[in-house]
Amino acid sequence: MIPIYDIHCHPSLKVYLCNAKIAQEHHHGSDFLPGQMHVDLPGMKTGGVQCVLSFQYVPEAGLGTMRKSKWLFSLMKGLGISITKKIESGLDGNGCFDQAMEGIGKMNDQVKEANDSGAFNITSPKNALEFEAAFNENKMIILHGLEGGHHLGKNLPDIQDYLDNLQKLKEAGVCILTLAHFFPNNLCDSAGGIPPGEAKFFGYSRSTSGPKGLTAIGEAVVNWCQDHGMIIDLVHSSVETRNRVYEILDERRVLGKRIRPIVFSHTGVRPMVAHLMLNEDDQLLLPDAPEILKIQSYGGLIGMILMNYWQNGDDQQDAILENDLGIQLVIDTIGFIKKCTADGDLSYVSIGTDLDGFTTIPRDVSHISKIDKLRQAILANFSVAEAEQICYGNALRVIRENFRID
Ligand SMILES: [Zn+2]
Repeated sequence: MIPIYDIHCHPSLKVYLCNAKIAQEHHHGSDFLPGQMHVDLPGMKTGGVQCVLSFQYVPEAGLGTMRKSKWLFSLMKGLGISITKKIESGLDGNGCFDQAMEGIGKMNDQVKEANDSGAFNITSPKNALEFEAAFNENKMIILHGLEGGHHLGKNLPDIQDYLDNLQKLKEAGVCILTLAHFFPNNLCDSAGGIPPGEAKFFGYSRSTSGPKGLTAIGEAVVNWCQDHGMIIDLVHSSVETRNRVYEILDERRVLGKRIRPIVFSHTGVRPMVAHLMLNEDDQLLLPDAPEILKIQSYGGLIGMILMNYWQNGDDQQDAILENDLGIQLVIDTIGFIKKCTADGDLSYVSIGTDLDGFTTIPRDVSHISKIDKLRQAILANFSVAEAEQICYGNALRVIRENFRID
């Protein structure tokens, strides 16, 4: 079985927010029901998932102040899940950084316990040596990511304070950072990322105030990540932020500095959604054909999300009595990317499911244990060599490139 590397999913979020147990089997229900988990260790084992980039996400303070979010928090409290202490503190300082470290620690404890129990051969490596050892021992691997620059701190006194926190996060095993998320942070603005139906339901609207693009802090963070080895993820970033990141990498190239791969970890592509995605701002979240080639030029990755809205633009997913299938949409998007270059290069396509990120999940991969259906569809539509690249090879290359210190 070709191993799968999932470059974006959120078991850490479920562990942090809902005290979910990663070593247990879970039912395949809606992601919005507390206690559900779609990336657990039994499921990874069944699905042949060798490695996941597990993103910790401390819900941004802005989510707590959305017009219609209060009833949701009350509902969760009624179900015994109090998340008020787990949401990003609105205060200046390292509160959210500490919360991120707490979540990573909880996840590491569960991984260690699962391995020590003998039930799973699993580890969470923190550097190149540990990663290669785990790879050679054929262990399941959990790597940590952070979704959103807010985890680096809020209005800290000095730019260096953010970089010091990055260093601590890297030492704790974080290997990938999504610069933006749903609200502006000290690194950059936000392009949003909640589909219209859900945005209306919760009272979310993307912020239009504040500076556009990368701040001076954001620029320092991008350079730090390139210098020290942390993958930069551009999902949720505005076009302005993304263009500035490309400029920084191009400047580095001219100066003879190292360029490390950058990614869209969980995404579709703009040309495939244009016919159904009515919201033009949402379309701008996704890379278009020239941007896809930019990512290729940096040796990066475009990770295929398992969420139909971002693959074909249809916001009606999860309508009652509809069988919302997602695999074919992913295959179609990969087929489009293959046509973006004359030689049909797929060395920069990967899988980034976004499972456990409170997403709307297509029914043909309702749990990581069922991901073989996606693997088989990839094999049916592309060559074995291409399937190996998409399922794990490209991700493995980028992870190794990120860890490189020579
Ligand atoms: Zn996301």
